[in-house]
Amino acid sequence: MQSSLTIVMYHYVRDFARTRYPGIRGLDFAGFRRQLDYLQSHYRIVRVEDVVAAVREGHALPPDAALLTFDDGYAEHYNLVFPELYERGLQGCFYPPVAPIRDGVLLDVNRVHFILAATLENPAQVSERIDAAIEAADPALGLQPVAAYRADWAHPNRFDDAETIYIKRMLQTVLPEDMRNRVAQDLFAQFVTADEPAFASELYISTQQARLMQSCGMAFGSHGASHYWLNRIPRAVQETEIDTSLDFLREIGAPIEDHWVMCYPFGGWNEELLDVLRSRKCTLGLTTEVATADLSRNDPLLLPRFDTNDFPR
Ligand SMILES: [Zn+2]
Repeated sequence: MQSSLTIVMYHYVRDFARTRYPGIRGLDFAGFRRQLDYLQSHYRIVRVEDVVAAVREGHALPPDAALLTFDDGYAEHYNLVFPELYERGLQGCFYPPVAPIRDGVLLDVNRVHFILAATLENPAQVSERIDAAIEAADPALGLQPVAAYRADWAHPNRFDDAETIYIKRMLQTVLPEDMRNRVAQDLFAQFVTADEPAFASELYISTQQARLMQSCGMAFGSHGASHYWLNRIPRAVQETEIDTSLDFLREIGAPIEDHWVMCYPFGGWNEELLDVLRSRKCTLGLTTEVATADLSRNDPLLLPRFDTNDFPR
């Protein structure tokens, strides 16, 4: 009985020869095509419907099954990835957060990526400004001293150095939301562009593009609405995040009454969230834990995924 599944996670897939932002770290389109060649020769790329049937009805997956997933709804998922997959007869599974796609909001996470891309040679000019904002903050906010934040958060992971992680964490989750938004917006205006709405409209797919991809056999699932760490917000907000994303999926014609997939922003989940997902009949959940999924052993709401960097390109 085949139950193992290799899930591959993609974010930015760009044509780096043409981009205005060469500092963004992502997969070059030529590398993506080579990686698809590799994956197609070593794996059988399955559709999300096959995985749902395997979980629900115990159908076997083919040997060496793999699933392709794309997070965050970037414009190149429509411009580059979709035509390439379509031509190869493959399905991609796409997880766009609602706010950037429907409301043109630039996500904190992307604001930070482009700030970092613009300051690659000297990320300290960014972290110094964050530290200065912490030191100048209203004492009523109850912030910790800079040294305490650095001790907690300035640690490298498998992709980023300590300084970069510190900047990302402070601006994505650690500082109070109003403050980190204001600091990140100032940094973005200084280092990237003052016209955020125009930038956002270029960065993400549109609702119409999502609908077209969906009607051509691509799969869409939930990545929340505002790209929060869903494990760090109260249940009522978790419910709003999920329900808003289900409304969006309905709007683009995704068959959510039959099955739907949750892809956790930043891989963040907790028991309360799983409870919310079960109450809305979620079928599969995708984490960022790194392993081959085993459908006979994993909780279907907590399937691990590899990153594109874990495979040759
Ligand atoms: Zn994401």
